[in-house]
Amino acid sequence: TWSAVPAGPPDPILGVTEAFKADTSSQKINLGVGAYRDGNGKPYVLSSVKKAEELLSASNPDKEYLPISGLPEFTKAAAKLAYGDAAPLKKNAVAVVQSISGTGALRIGGAFLGRFFPHAKAIYIPNPSWGNHTAVFRDSGLEVKQYRYFDKKTVGLDFAGMKEDIKTMPANSIVLLHACAHNPTGVDPTPEQWIELSNLIAEKQLFPFFDMAYQGFASGDTVRDAFALRHFVSAGHQVALAQSFAKNMGLYGERVGAFSLVAADAEEKARLESQLKIVIRPMYSNPPLHGARIASTILNNEKLYADWLSEVKGMAERIISMRERLYDNLVGLNTPGGWGHIKSQIGMFSFTGLTTPQTQKLAEKAHIYMTADGRISMAGLNAHNIDYFSESVSKAVKG
Ligand code: PMP
Repeated sequence: TWSAVPAGPPDPILGVTEAFKADTSSQKINLGVGAYRDGNGKPYVLSSVKKAEELLSASNPDKEYLPISGLPEFTKAAAKLAYGDAAPLKKNAVAVVQSISGTGALRIGGAFLGRFFPHAKAIYIPNPSWGNHTAVFRDSGLEVKQYRYFDKKTVGLDFAGMKEDIKTMPANSIVLLHACAHNPTGVDPTPEQWIELSNLIAEKQLFPFFDMAYQGFASGDTVRDAFALRHFVSAGHQVALAQSFAKNMGLYGERVGAFSLVAADAEEKARLESQLKIVIRPMYSNPPLHGARIASTILNNEKLYADWLSEVKGMAERIISMRERLYDNLVGLNTPGGWGHIKSQIGMFSFTGLTTPQTQKLAEKAHIYMTADGRISMAGLNAHNIDYFSESVSKAVKG
């Protein structure tokens, strides 16, 4: 029956982890995977999460099904975290459903837009973007196109190219925007540039779809990281939003997320929510319970919420300190090239500018693993391996 099914290619990011696992060197470093690691290179369970789990376990909760749209206390708090005091939220005009983390939120959004967006079904994503965006939206029935985003020469934002491409998009196209901490480049527009983008997207009558997988992780401040989203909403855009709690709560495998749509009013919101449920029901019936309870407990408990905010800040600051040390080391070792981007980039990842042959050399000679595009997860670096990493990179660049 299946003789005609060809073997598919391995996932490029998970492939890095496979190679890392197979390496027996004690010096090996895995900078491929986008998951936070503590100062000892270990996975990190937030103490606010542990406390929330203790509270939950003490309350002896049942295991009944959630509603199709998820845990109401969670979705309400998730929307509040993202939109803040935005007017549509205050007037009950934001439709929100729980999702299977950020990926599931994007998938619900793709399916909803494919079914109900009454216009061209093209979505434009940045070049480059998170590797899964293309597949998620293609499988949702949308046509996926790209806009310019990253300038290899400056290792920064190609703002002029981005604007030119947005100007040529047909009206009523969907534009996917990384709300903060762009993956994989770590390059975000400035607040002034976001304001310009908001105006341009309104003028060209495009539909903005925000992917917010790193709220709090970019600057250490959840409010600051929500600037782009909140600005667009205050400017009148009826955005779509995919939220993930994988990174900022360290709930990766618990799969906690939310998808929302800004509606014109409460009546429209109710119609949108009814259709979102019809999209979800045949996909997976209803979302998982435990992670949403954890997130809800944290977001709705003043003390835990404050603890969580300081832990998010702590994670962001550890990453920023690694950026500073890596920069200082590379410059101190007289490594050819400019390295300022290591410090100016934001969030979990850095696009180092290392070439594919250099990344291969690092794997073979130094047991250091990263994706072939030179992206490193800054969270994989710590006081124990940063000097070895810097020296190895410096050697690889010197050739
Ligand atoms: N969007 C972006 C930009 C991401 O980087 C990620 C995680 N790597 C996701 C969405 C979704 O991740 P998850 O499904 O684990 O929340």
